[in-house]
Amino acid sequence: MSDSASNPDKKSADIVMLGRCPMCKKRATLEYRPFCSKRCADLDLAKWIGGSYAIPAEEADITELDVMDPTLER
Ligand SMILES: [Zn+2]
Repeated sequence: MSDSASNPDKKSADIVMLGRCPMCKKRATLEYRPFCSKRCADLDLAKWIGGSYAIPAEEADITELDVMDPTLER
């Protein structure tokens, strides 16, 4: 982090190496690489979370409520 941050030449080389955003195929940016923007980074993150969390999340919430419900009903 220290080397590339203090070396502007390395930064421009990084931009060349960034390639393209895997989400929309636009040119990736240094800030959000390998994505082109925060939006695409978020989309990818959502994709990963969506695969393993988003769908079961509702069930997980219900399970949590189930644990809490008896306490509330009493
Ligand atoms: Zn993109």
